Amino acid sequence: MASDVAVSSSLVDSQQQILKNLARPTARSLSLYNAGLSAEAVRQQYGLSHIAKLASNENPLGASPQVIAALQADAGFSAVYSDAASTALRDALATYTGVQAGNIVIGNGSEDILHMLALAFLNPGDRVVTLRPSFGLHEIFPRMMGADVTLVDVNKQHQFDIAAWTQALSMPAKMVIFSNPSNPVGCMLDNAGFERIIAAAPQDCVLVIDEAYFEYCRNNPDYPDSQRVLAAQSRPWIVLRTFSKAYGLAGLRVGYGLASHPELVNLLNRVRTPFNINRSAQAAAVVALGDQQHVNDSIALVSAQRDMMSAQLTALGFRVAPSCANFLFFDCGQPAAELAQRLLCGWRHYQAMAGEGV
Ligand SMILES: *Cc1c(COP(=O)(O)O)cnc(C)c1O
Repeated sequence: MASDVAVSSSLVDSQQQILKNLARPTARSLSLYNAGLSAEAVRQQYGLSHIAKLASNENPLGASPQVIAALQADAGFSAVYSDAASTALRDALATYTGVQAGNIVIGNGSEDILHMLALAFLNPGDRVVTLRPSFGLHEIFPRMMGADVTLVDVNKQHQFDIAAWTQALSMPAKMVIFSNPSNPVGCMLDNAGFERIIAAAPQDCVLVIDEAYFEYCRNNPDYPDSQRVLAAQSRPWIVLRTFSKAYGLAGLRVGYGLASHPELVNLLNRVRTPFNINRSAQAAAVVALGDQQHVNDSIALVSAQRDMMSAQLTALGFRVAPSCANFLFFDCGQPAAELAQRLLCGWRHYQAMAGEGV
C-alpha cells in the first residue's frame, strides 16, 4: 500500500540545496547523455503504430536465432551469479580475435569500458583529446573525472582532420579517444591517417580506439588493421568493440576491449563492478560470435538500405556525409531538433495540425 505522506515544498527545496552542496562539482555540471526515445515511448506519446527507429543504430534483424535459443536455455539459471571473469566469453573472443584472453576485458556494453578507463586513469586537470562531433560518452566520462577535454573538429568534408589532430596531439595528453568509423558522422580514418594520428600521439598516453562499427568496415581494404598498427608501437592502447550494433544485442549490454597489455586489463578489473556482465549476456555473446553468417547478412542488408536512404536524402537536396557505419549524418538545412520533432509526430499528423492552424 502506498503511504500518502505530504511533503512540504520548502522541504523539497532544502533537500535540493543539500544535494547540490554534497554533489561533486564535476558531477553536478555534467551534461546528460541523450539516450533517445524508445519505440514504446514514441508509440505512447504520439499514438503511432508503425515506427522505424533509426536513432540508436540497432540491428533491424535483431539477434541471431541461435542467440534467442541460448537465452531461453539460460532462463532457468537467473538465481545464480554470473562468472565475474566472463571466462567463456573471453576465451571465445581470444579464439576469434587471436588476442590472448588475459588482454581482453568485457564490459556491460563498451560504454562500461569507457567508464572504467575514465575511473582508472583520469585525475582532475588531465588532458583528454577526442573528436567533435563525437559519441557523447567520449567527452562526458572524462569530464566526470574533472579532466580537460580538447575536441578536434572534423573538417569541411566531414572527415578526420589529420593536421588538426597532429596539432592537438603535439601537447601532453593522458588519453586519446576516437571512434573509427566515427559516430555520429560515419567517417572512416584510413590506414595512412590512422598511422599518422597514432604516431603523433604523446608517448605516455593511453590510446582508446572505439571500433563500435568495426563489422561494417572489416572488409574495406582502407580500414586500418588497428591491432597491427598499434602492436608496432610502445604506447598503451585498447580497442573497443561491441555486440550492440552488428550483432544485434544492444539490450543485453556486452562490449569488449582488446588491450595492449594484461596490466591494462588488471587496472580496469580494479575499478569495474565485479559482476558487470549478466549470465544471459555472457551466454548470448558467445553464441552470437559463432554466428557470423547472421552478422554478414545484417551488414549486407543495412549497408544496402543505408546507401538507398543516402541517395534519397541527396535527391531531396540534403548534404549527406559518406558513412562507413549503419547510420547517416546529414545537413538538413534547418534546426535539426524541429525536423526531428516533425518526424516524431509523423507527417500526416503534423500536416493535420498545421491545417488546423496549430
Ligand atoms: C553505440 C556506441 C557505443 C556503445 O555501445 P555499447 O556497447 O552498447 O555500450 C560506444 N561507442 C560508440 C562510438 C557507439 O556508437
